[in-house]
Amino acid sequence: MLVGIVAGAALGLGANELVANRLLAKDVVDSVIEWAAFPAGQIFLRLLIMLSVPLIFSALVSGIAELDPRALGRMGLRTLGFTTLVSALAVVTGLALVIGLAPGEGDTTELVRLAEELAAGRPPIKPAEGAGITGVVTMIPTNPIAAAANDNTLGVIIFALVLGVGLAAVRTDNSARLREAIGGLNEVCTRLVEAVMRIAPIGVAGLLFASFANLGVDLLARIGAYVGVVVLALVLHTFGTYAVLLKLVARRSPWAFFSQIKVAMATAFATSSSAATLPTTLHVAEHDVKLPRHVSRFVLTAGASMNQNGTALFEGVTVLFLAQVFDVDLTVSQSLVVMLICVLGGIGTAGIPGASLPVIAMMMAMYGIPAEGLALILGVDRLLDMCRTTVNVAGDLVVAACVARSEPAET
Ligand code: ASP
Repeated sequence: MLVGIVAGAALGLGANELVANRLLAKDVVDSVIEWAAFPAGQIFLRLLIMLSVPLIFSALVSGIAELDPRALGRMGLRTLGFTTLVSALAVVTGLALVIGLAPGEGDTTELVRLAEELAAGRPPIKPAEGAGITGVVTMIPTNPIAAAANDNTLGVIIFALVLGVGLAAVRTDNSARLREAIGGLNEVCTRLVEAVMRIAPIGVAGLLFASFANLGVDLLARIGAYVGVVVLALVLHTFGTYAVLLKLVARRSPWAFFSQIKVAMATAFATSSSAATLPTTLHVAEHDVKLPRHVSRFVLTAGASMNQNGTALFEGVTVLFLAQVFDVDLTVSQSLVVMLICVLGGIGTAGIPGASLPVIAMMMAMYGIPAEGLALILGVDRLLDMCRTTVNVAGDLVVAACVARSEPAET
């Protein structure tokens, strides 16, 4: 997998450079992407995504059906508590760095002009809707099949939670058969994921080649300070906050832990989607980290969509960076609201590529930051998405390890 990542990224960057220096025709690179990198990457990605809905559903229902309701309540509260705590710490780290290092302060006329240029003719990103109480109410799907069909992962999770609780409560012969069938679906999906992971190195190389060959290297250099702040904050959060939590709460060696979860982190990096990575995350939790199944199935399926520290951090840094660039002064209380929305945004953002952008667009509209600002970061978003998704997935596993520490062994 590592070979796939390094080879795909290096070849993609090399192709990017050759095209920029007119040593290679852009058409040649586009053909390589169209006929080799795209199919290899997308087949791998789509197989993982295809398995993610049945896997989320079956893992969560069977996980919950095995629990007694008190254990479920306790685990749910702990998961929510850790998720909120680590998300808040992530946002604070990001905001402290973006305020302290101020990558968007100074003479920004150039950047503002560039943003306008990049935004011209591009449809604006639709701001996220449904914040506040409506957002909470509409989390409950009216039709579970429609939720699955429309990639509403949160809806699937909520339905699975409710069905799992029902299965735990109803102890009849028929319900036992249903529980067995859903357990069987889970075993089959798990095995299929193992099979898909065999083509991971090729798929990952394809995904990375396509991303890096199209990376806006020129743009990257111009907003390098912002990219640097995002990456630095993500690194500090991962090797600072996560490492402390692992040591103090989960009582595990952080280095051993990161080494055990490297395949999940690499898959997240390559796919930019926590939902697509979930099958691998579950596999790694069980086989490499050796977390109890009833904990990992519950915490990780819920976490893939609800515990997104990297996303929360990224949203905060980006909104404040764009406010600096466009000279919009945010008061302390406005910055605190940004922080709160980012923590909630981390919970409400879907685990798919680019899902942060509508949340950022919504905050920009709230504070009068010109919408074209977002165009400035779109060219580097894929790279940052890879980085923040890696942190999201690592965060799910860290929270699972922390919750597992205080849970009795499997029942
Ligand atoms: N791509 C991220 C994830 O799947 C979500 C985002 O920040 O866009 O975790």
